[in-house]
Amino acid sequence: MGEQETDAAVARARLRLLAAEFTTPRATRRAAAGRRTPTTAPREPINLDILDHLTKSTREIVDYTREVVPDADPPPATAEGIYGWMVKLTPHLDVDRQMVRDAIIHRQALEHAIAMGDKDVIRYEECPGCTCWSLFWRYGEDQAACVNRYCADQLGRPSLWTLQQIAEHYVDVKYAARKAAT
Ligand SMILES: [Zn+2]
Repeated sequence: MGEQETDAAVARARLRLLAAEFTTPRATRRAAAGRRTPTTAPREPINLDILDHLTKSTREIVDYTREVVPDADPPPATAEGIYGWMVKLTPHLDVDRQMVRDAIIHRQALEHAIAMGDKDVIRYEECPGCTCWSLFWRYGEDQAACVNRYCADQLGRPSLWTLQQIAEHYVDVKYAARKAAT
């Protein structure tokens, strides 16, 4: 399995989980269980923010793929097939476009995890500023902060990074390593 497939598989698995966990009506599950379980935290029947997130994510993948492959086959009917569809149609792209593609996939994998409340996913990403494993997610600001004090500015404020910047750094490192290996 190639690197693209691995990253796409992670994004796919998270998207599938997100769709299953947050957009399945809870009432149906309760009815199926026969009774209401008091230990379950109250939750909206369908999380519209998550549905919106899934729609935007899928649209971004389709738009980019069609931009670089104008005669692309129609996208798959189910959202979870979208990354495999994109990777399959784009092996011939030049390096710059492959890097854009891979950054989108990696960013979306991070976005899916954070949408599910898994902010720890950011701790496995390198800080683009100091290349340390020193990032923490700030929910209110929708960006990550680096806790490495050598990465802070002159006033001691932490460096801040968007998921797009983090994903682009990840892809830069990946391609640099590949280039060095050849
Ligand atoms: Zn840093």
